[in-house]
Amino acid sequence: MNKINSVCPYCGAGCKINLCVENGRIIKAEGANGVTNQGELCLKGLYGWDFLNDNKLLTARIHEPMIRRQKGADFEIVSWNEAIQYTAKKLLEIKEKYGAKSIMCTGSSRGTGNETNFVMQKFVRAVLGNNNVDCCARVCHGPSVAGLQETLGNGAMSNSIADIEDSDCLLVFGYNCADSHPIVARRVVKAKQKGAKIIVCDPRKIETAKIANQYLPLKNGTNMALVNAFAYTLIDEDLYDKDYVSRYTEGFEEYKKQLADYSPEAVQDIVGIPAMEIRKAMRTYAGAKTATIMWGMGVTQFGQAVDVVKGLSGLALLTGNLGKPHVGVAPVRGQNNVQGACDMGVLPNMFPGYQYVTDEKTRKKFAQAWNIPVEQLDPEVGYRITEVPHLAIEGKVKAYYIMGEDPLQTEADLGLVRKGFEALDFVVVQDIFMTKTAEQADVILPSTSWGEHAGIFTCADRGFQRFEKAIEPRGNVKRDWEIISLLATEMGYPMSYENNEEIWNEVRALCPLFFGVTYEKLAGLAHIQWPCTDIEDKGTPYLYSGNQFTTPSGKGQLFATPWRAPAELPDADYPMILSTVREVGHYSCRSMTGNCKALASLADEPGYVQVHPDVAKEAGIGDQEIVWVESRRGKVMSRCNVNETINKQAIYMTYQWWIGACNELTQDNLDPVSKTPETKYCAARVIKI
Ligand code: SF4
Repeated sequence: MNKINSVCPYCGAGCKINLCVENGRIIKAEGANGVTNQGELCLKGLYGWDFLNDNKLLTARIHEPMIRRQKGADFEIVSWNEAIQYTAKKLLEIKEKYGAKSIMCTGSSRGTGNETNFVMQKFVRAVLGNNNVDCCARVCHGPSVAGLQETLGNGAMSNSIADIEDSDCLLVFGYNCADSHPIVARRVVKAKQKGAKIIVCDPRKIETAKIANQYLPLKNGTNMALVNAFAYTLIDEDLYDKDYVSRYTEGFEEYKKQLADYSPEAVQDIVGIPAMEIRKAMRTYAGAKTATIMWGMGVTQFGQAVDVVKGLSGLALLTGNLGKPHVGVAPVRGQNNVQGACDMGVLPNMFPGYQYVTDEKTRKKFAQAWNIPVEQLDPEVGYRITEVPHLAIEGKVKAYYIMGEDPLQTEADLGLVRKGFEALDFVVVQDIFMTKTAEQADVILPSTSWGEHAGIFTCADRGFQRFEKAIEPRGNVKRDWEIISLLATEMGYPMSYENNEEIWNEVRALCPLFFGVTYEKLAGLAHIQWPCTDIEDKGTPYLYSGNQFTTPSGKGQLFATPWRAPAELPDADYPMILSTVREVGHYSCRSMTGNCKALASLADEPGYVQVHPDVAKEAGIGDQEIVWVESRRGKVMSRCNVNETINKQAIYMTYQWWIGACNELTQDNLDPVSKTPETKYCAARVIKI
């Protein structure tokens, strides 16, 4: 039996894993002693590899390139040559007819690696000639990136996953770590065991709330009001670090003015938390020697998410909880390589290494490296994936090349997304499974999966880690970056790489932040956090050492913004709030975990809707009964999960089900800065069938 060094592909915790291989098949997975997981794995890490053994009868893997020559026709299996030539010709025709900006692409935050994402954004910028490349960070932690870049200078977790357990206080805000990152949740439990004070802010009494010293069950959609009241309290009660604020921050006087209406007493009815509880939480947070704020999509999937992120970082700045061990701000990224996709420039405004596309010097550097005229690199910021349905309907986007994403399952308001797809002339899907989006494609390019190729992932704490190939792929599939390179070459830009390391060295040469992270240094269980700027550098476990922020002035920026109510409030017809949540046994659109027997057995179709016992009783609905869940955008069938840990005003659904897809109901009110949809809040109702 061979033990292959890998990284779990199911969340940003980045657990190191050994895939045990016998006779070309994976027979089990074991936790390896990685920096973030120390030998532990959750259920997804332990049992999420079944589909790699690829029993064609059981899985939905795609094994051959396919073309659908006309809308409504069947797919036709074709050779790789034909698939690449057909795709290249169509893309060139569309570019010629409608202009470079008419083509949109995605990178992938899932099982494919950093090298692939680098090659994809290079294809978009150097071959298509636009910046229309994005990833699912847009629908999850896009607001964390945008908010933290503005306040602190880096849009990433400032500290390390391993460091969380040594913090004296954890403020866990809108973050259900037990279900989304179980191994990070273990760190929270360990922190508690070591004596840390845990404060949890969440409308649902999530698992972490059960071990919290203080639980604040705020009303859905009131994050900004509560964060403002927290900041008000720190200033009002003189709990903030005046010396730190005067030396290392800017904007305090204006910040204080903006907070004037947000005393805990003024907002207690808005947020549903007694003023004394709000004040108590901040006395605990500010009184701790070291404190960390952790958040998840309970913060970011709102129309005012960027403002809330800026507000949370303000709490850390007020109390000096940055730039040293055991403190910080921790937006814990969801998908395993969403940090990596952002690092590699799968963003419409940045080249790899967080270098702005609007900066001429940067464009010259990339143009020279890629051997193209600088004019070929678009100086304008590209489109975001959440804008695509609207742009397609308006006729501005005509072709969509989607790698390892499933927008027809995972994006808000699927009715709108479908209309957008219907308006497109050409859709290319590069994936490992026949997803909802692949079913609608004109061309399908089948790729290798995690386990079948090697690469580098970046976990949520900026840590680069290598994963190796465990088994040979079984179908007529290719590595993602090989497919993109073939397509680029066919479109007139010769692109070829021998191996992953060659691509990675190109990344390093172009990105000062990552230059010191060599393949060699990443061997085995290594975990190297950026910035890592030279070969001797061991990486950066915490950002902003010496309180040097990477903002233009070098100082932390304080911002407070008035609270805005969510876009669609409950009313007489739709009296409940619908919020999306996580299912512990499944990942993303469930294409991978849904094809693993052990995980599929944990939770199956149709999905479930969590309903408070009083609401269920009033509607005459029993536990496990099939019900209709409806919003202004549609209705789906779901299984009622009568659940006393939730609040009475809201119902909760996970987005991982094909039957009972909650995104048929959600709405796409977008944060004005990050363009992230408000999938945590819309009006809905539950009806007995
Ligand atoms: Fe995988 Fe995340 Fe579970 Fe770790 S916590 S085993 S990375 S799903």
